[in-house]
Amino acid sequence: MQQLGTEGAFEVLAKARALEAAGRRVVHLEIGEPDFETAEHIKAAGKAALDQGYTHYTPSAGLMPVREAVARYVGTTRGLQVSPEQVIITPGAKPVVFYTIMAVIGEGDEALVPDPGFPIYDSVVRYAGGTPVALPLRESRQFRFDPDELRRRVTSRTRLIILNSPQNPTGGVLTPADLEAVAAIAREHDLWVLSDEIYSRLIYEGEHHSITSLPDMAARTVLLDGFSKTYAMTGWRLGYAVAPPALVPHLVRLQTNVASCTAGFVQLAGIAALEGPQEPVEAMLAEFRRRRALVVDGLNRIDGVRCLLPGGAFYAFPRVEVPGLTSKQIADALLEEEGVALLAGTAFGPHGEGFLRLSFANSIAELEEGLRRMARGLARLRAARGT
Ligand code: PLP
Repeated sequence: MQQLGTEGAFEVLAKARALEAAGRRVVHLEIGEPDFETAEHIKAAGKAALDQGYTHYTPSAGLMPVREAVARYVGTTRGLQVSPEQVIITPGAKPVVFYTIMAVIGEGDEALVPDPGFPIYDSVVRYAGGTPVALPLRESRQFRFDPDELRRRVTSRTRLIILNSPQNPTGGVLTPADLEAVAAIAREHDLWVLSDEIYSRLIYEGEHHSITSLPDMAARTVLLDGFSKTYAMTGWRLGYAVAPPALVPHLVRLQTNVASCTAGFVQLAGIAALEGPQEPVEAMLAEFRRRRALVVDGLNRIDGVRCLLPGGAFYAFPRVEVPGLTSKQIADALLEEEGVALLAGTAFGPHGEGFLRLSFANSIAELEEGLRRMARGLARLRAARGT
C-alpha cells in the first residue's frame, strides 16, 4: 500500500471545499471535469434503460450491443477494424489504466510514463511492483517527448509505454511523426502500449491521431477512451478498453475481480452518446476554445507567467515563477491567501516543477475572477520576496 499514490486534484478539491465550509469563496480551477450537463438524449436513454429493467449484473466485459457500438465508433474515429470481443466496457476509463498495468507489469518490470503526466500511471506501476521510468515532457518541445530520449530509456526490462494525447496536464498533442517513432520502438523491443485517448474529441486544431491506426500497432496497444470528458459524463462512470485479443481475457478477469461489471443502464446510455446527436460535443468544444483563448491570454499578461496554447483537453499549464518558492508552495499560497484552487505541476511528476495546472472547465466569469486573484496573489508573493 506504501507504493500506491493518489491524485492531487481530489486532495486540493477537498481542501477547497473545507475553506468553503468555513465561509470562504473559492474559484475552482483544479477539477478536471466539464462543467456541462450530460445531454438530455443521453439521460433519457439511461432512464429508459432503468425502466426496461437494466438493473442487474451484466457480463463482465459489457453488454454486446454496447461493445458493438464502441467497435463501430473506433472504426470511424481511428480507422480500426476491431471485433466487439476486443471491447471491454468499464466503470469509468480509469480502471483501464489499472487493469492494463496489472496485466502486463510484474516485479522488476519497467514502464515508460509521461512526466508530467496523469499520476495514476506512476502509482499503479509501483503498486504492481514495477518501476515507472519518467519520460520528460518539456515546454520547449510543446510538451511532446523527445523520441531519442524515449529510445535511450528503453532497457531489457521495459514492458510498456504509456501515451496520453491530448495530454493531461499540459494540453500537449503528439504528432503523427511522434507516434511513428513510438511505434518503431515498440515493434523493435516488443513492447505493449497503453494509449490514453480520453481527450481525443477535445482537440482545437487538426484532428486526433491514434497509434492504433499504425501498422501492427493494434496488436500491441490497449486503447483507453470513455465518456467522462467528451460527453460530460464524469459521474456516470463509463469508459472502455479496446485491447489485443491476447490481453482481453486478463483484463476481463481483473474486472470480474474488481467491479464485476459496469452498470447496465449506464452502458446503454453510452450507445445514445456515441450514436445520437453530436451537437452538444461541438458546442462544448466551441466554448472550451473561447475559454482557452481567454485563459492563455490572461495568464501571459501576468508578470512572471508564461503559457503555451494547449492543443487539446481543457487545461492550461503555465510556467509560474516566484523566486524561492516551489510550485506546490505557490499553489498552496494562492488557495489559502486568494481562494483560487489550482494544482502544482509537481502533482503530475517532478518535471512539473515550475508550472501550475489550471482547468478551464469553468465559466468565463469564474475564469476571469480566477485570473484576477492569481495576478494579485502572485504580485503579493513576489513583492514579499523583493522581486
Ligand atoms: N486518463 C486521463 C489522462 C484523465 O485525465 C482521466 C480523468 O481525469 C482519466 C484517464 C479517467 O477518466 P474517467 O473519469 O473516465 O475514469
